[in-house]
Amino acid sequence: MPEVVITCDWTMMSNHHGKEFLGFGTTTPAYLLPESVYQRLFFPTMEVDENGYPSQAPYGMRKVEASLLDAGIDARIVHPSYLDRYMPGPAKVMLISGHDYFGLNPPSSTFGGVMAKEPLNCVNFKRMLSQPHVLKARREGMKLIAGGPCAWQLSPATRQKVPWIGEFVDSIGGVDSVVEGEADVFVREIVTKALRDEFLPPHVVLTPKDAPKVEQISSIHYPSVNGLIEIGRGCCRGCSFCSVTTRPTRWYPLEKIEEELKVNAAIGVRKGLLHSDDVYFYGSPNIMPREDKLIPLLKLAKRYYQQVGWSHVAVASLMTRPHLLARCGEALLDEQQDWWGVEVGVETGSPRLITAAMPGKVAPFKASQWPELVVQAAGLMNDNHVFPACTFIVGLPQETEDDVLRTIELIDNLWDFKAILVPMFFVPLGHLKSKDWFSRDRLSDVQEELFKRALSHGLRQSKRLLRDFFDWEGAHTRAYRATFRGFIGFLDVIARMHGLYSEPKRAIPTIENPLRHPERIPSPTIPVRE
Ligand code: SF4
Repeated sequence: MPEVVITCDWTMMSNHHGKEFLGFGTTTPAYLLPESVYQRLFFPTMEVDENGYPSQAPYGMRKVEASLLDAGIDARIVHPSYLDRYMPGPAKVMLISGHDYFGLNPPSSTFGGVMAKEPLNCVNFKRMLSQPHVLKARREGMKLIAGGPCAWQLSPATRQKVPWIGEFVDSIGGVDSVVEGEADVFVREIVTKALRDEFLPPHVVLTPKDAPKVEQISSIHYPSVNGLIEIGRGCCRGCSFCSVTTRPTRWYPLEKIEEELKVNAAIGVRKGLLHSDDVYFYGSPNIMPREDKLIPLLKLAKRYYQQVGWSHVAVASLMTRPHLLARCGEALLDEQQDWWGVEVGVETGSPRLITAAMPGKVAPFKASQWPELVVQAAGLMNDNHVFPACTFIVGLPQETEDDVLRTIELIDNLWDFKAILVPMFFVPLGHLKSKDWFSRDRLSDVQEELFKRALSHGLRQSKRLLRDFFDWEGAHTRAYRATFRGFIGFLDVIARMHGLYSEPKRAIPTIENPLRHPERIPSPTIPVRE
């Protein structure tokens, strides 16, 4: 029986039907339909063994579990519905993790703000910690330590800014320690102290100086959700609103990646995601993609998974070496896989805002080239069977009305882009963490129009994407496809009924593969060294 139990809420403890992208559905409130419908659509229950150990668990939590196990500490990830087996009782320490405990991150804050209702991730997180056996264990002295990418939401500063969080924390008997940052090494220290009943620092912020070296990062012992495997950490682009950028860039060697691929493949996982903040840069010491590093990585992943997706890629990286994407397609696409997905941070259509808030995002190009680069990258991706989800940020402190109009113009130019466009409210993170949140009541008319245009684009393109998305054969697939087609149709009707549908008011350009017109491809303006 483990002394240390690691868990999260039900929205995270799911494989989202094997589609990581459907996890986005847990960031919306249960709107009009009952919560059980959203649960079936977006976070079906994870399979568990007789101990309540999930067959797959979120990758970051698997890293923490592995670090503790490697240090000889008796720790296991337990499904939130099975916590009563361990508390009150053998569990002396409970570690919790989450992407967005209280729905404050994008996109939860956007959906929750627009629909004026708590998103599902927040509802489920509070429900998980309010279970009677958890509260009883807390009263009997079980320590509670919070971490994960959204640990900042439990920091004293956030509790002060958002009083209802403070009230909730008080209602569960407080949190003993909140740890922000990469805790691969530190988690051993704090858990050891908790097990010995020693003083726990209430709030720890691990800085980039504390970031573990590659050799200090444990490899997972048990499978991760949807075969997600990290290939590196950190990003050098320096966007002012991003917390990842403050961390040093580190790439894992292929042997370390293979070790984790084997763990997932051993239980029959045949689809997986390679995770880093820019997969295209794998192995590169600068902002120049390295074919000699990336292609062997993709070939390695294909030895274990039939289908391989990427977590993130940057527009500027793709356009620095556009020919390389076709080489990636040669490594990935075959009779088992005919497309792949990735998240792309577009954020804005305004060169002025790029310069003001994220100058590194466009390097080695000039900010003035940004809108053209995005459209070219869209053509490049679609022609190479990459269908991404693209994020946009609304309400950055530096944003003007003209910036928003430029973004709407860009969305219009992307009207035929087979992708999902996701606009999100600005959340104060990274170098802008002292700024205020953006909220629904501050939405101007043009910002509202941007949301409507992106929603309409999404409804139109999601119907096209359904067939690719549920691409395996069988009765289950047909049922999923029919269910999601019905759900998209439902959203379409609601959007039109409430005047939320908005189409471009002008002729839209065709999205083309720029490699067919190499003379039109923007050239990097800053020299890059190989
Ligand atoms: S490119 Fe992406 S990961 Fe890198 S700093 Fe900018 S927002 Fe963060």
